[in-house]
Amino acid sequence: MTEDFGRFTLPFCSFVVPGEDHPRVGVGVDTDILDLTTAAAIVVPDHEELFAAGTLDSFLAAGFEDWEAVRYALTEWLGTEPIEGPTHEHVVDHHLVPADSVELRMPFAVSDYVDFYASEEHASNLGKILRPGQEPLTPNWKHLPIGYHGRAGTVVASGTPIVRPQGQRRTPEGGVVFGPTVRLDIETELGFVVGTGSTMGEPVGLADFDRHVFGICLLNDWSARDIQGWEYAPLGPFLGKSFATSISPWIVPLAALSQARVHAPERTTQLLPYLDDATAEPWGLDLHFEASLNGSIISRPPYAGMYWTPAQMLAHMTVNGASLHTGDLYGSGTISGPSPDQRGSLIELSWNGQEPIKLDDGSTRTFLEDGDTVTITATAAGPGGQTLYLGAVEGTIVPNIEHSR
Ligand code: MN
Repeated sequence: MTEDFGRFTLPFCSFVVPGEDHPRVGVGVDTDILDLTTAAAIVVPDHEELFAAGTLDSFLAAGFEDWEAVRYALTEWLGTEPIEGPTHEHVVDHHLVPADSVELRMPFAVSDYVDFYASEEHASNLGKILRPGQEPLTPNWKHLPIGYHGRAGTVVASGTPIVRPQGQRRTPEGGVVFGPTVRLDIETELGFVVGTGSTMGEPVGLADFDRHVFGICLLNDWSARDIQGWEYAPLGPFLGKSFATSISPWIVPLAALSQARVHAPERTTQLLPYLDDATAEPWGLDLHFEASLNGSIISRPPYAGMYWTPAQMLAHMTVNGASLHTGDLYGSGTISGPSPDQRGSLIELSWNGQEPIKLDDGSTRTFLEDGDTVTITATAAGPGGQTLYLGAVEGTIVPNIEHSR
């Protein structure tokens, strides 16, 4: 797949040139990568050291003013038209490599990982499936963004094979058995990457969201529904989700999403002051997701309808005094829209396995089979009517070794 980022998005990655060991920081430019680890001395000389290690960690930690300064300098050097003139040809072109000629790595070290549940449609669908006959939303849902702490150490870059997890599950007869999950699912999500940390005991307010969060990635929160369904009461998700979470290797700066910002949906419940965004800067995002299974598009979830904004999620995550750290990652939760073809997980698309979905090759799925490849992409509105490509996160399911011998 050729990825074309144009010249406005300017996403960051970490890459390795074949035959080399050391990673380099890259910036997506059209279908190329600008090698910022080597080009920084000329392009952003005051910030050269931030890119020396080849991952985004130092740059993320540097903070808002440095993020702005580097983006400004990159925009000046790259322009919005193809590079022209002897200066650019000799300086910048020399540091461009075709993106499909290198290996993309985990772009930053994940510190803490939190996952939310911010889509009203997703939460309602799950409520109808798991608690039929009851109110789809739990009483707390419109008062706070529900979340849980996940496992940072198993967040992996796109392309990493996903070993089918094993664990306990309940049988329809009420027994308990052990083995590979038979209900392996995806969750189509947006991830938010924290750059600037905060001090313990000092909550981060709605207005400070973009001082702390550098950018976004696409995220697939792989979920074993049978393991999850047996273990989750009363403390929430555990082994049914901690085996792997995949992210796109490109981190798109919030600054690239200026044209995609929209107001969140109308609030139907009065919010406490720390979450009340009625007069705050809008942080809804009009992003368009696409989830594919073995090349067949299975869903097109719209992000704009998400009830809780990333600014509210950050405010809630820190309101108790918990501090932020560089490399913290939080997910939006499954993105689902109101129509059936906008559902961001298989448990919704197949309605708990009762309505198999059909793929282009004629086969059907309820949940994932070994060998299945899931790809999630997204786009956003950019300046001048452009459509910005935001990257892809992909993963292929491989058999559980112990049980496939
Ligand atoms: Mn999730």
